[in-house]
Amino acid sequence: MRIEISGQTFQSDFVKKVAEISGESVLSCNQCGKCSAGCPMAFAMDWLPNQIIRLVQLGIEEDIAKSKTPWICASCLTCSVRCPRGVDLGRLMEAVRLLTLRRNIDYVAAAKIPPDALGEMPQIALVGGFRKHTA
Ligand code: SF4
Ligand code: SF4
Repeated sequence: MRIEISGQTFQSDFVKKVAEISGESVLSCNQCGKCSAGCPMAFAMDWLPNQIIRLVQLGIEEDIAKSKTPWICASCLTCSVRCPRGVDLGRLMEAVRLLTLRRNIDYVAAAKIPPDALGEMPQIALVGGFRKHTA
């Protein structure tokens, strides 16, 4: 994929929205990778946490929307503690999730959850899951 980078790339609406919602400076990240090295969920992610930040910096919204990484993120904040640049990646991930949900895409299809599983799941987990993963 060819990416054209200019001053406008770093000031795109998407970059501004992520910064506004998260309250974090997206451009502070220097891609050291410490967040990804310590992330306990990295094994299940398609893009590593530092790669998600790079996609945000470049305003590549489509790839972020398709990624499962923000939904795998457990919001454990290990990355936020480890970041030498003071970037709270947990907040950035939440901003990315919110912006993805605003695209009106459902990541959980209630109708496809087996009735047995529905009966066993804690109600609060279901409500929380639907809030987080459905538009
Ligand atoms: S630890 Fe911080 S500076 Fe390093 S890649 Fe992650 S977010 Fe960026
Ligand atoms: S908050 Fe998310 S991205 Fe950061 S270390 Fe925890 S699981 Fe990984």
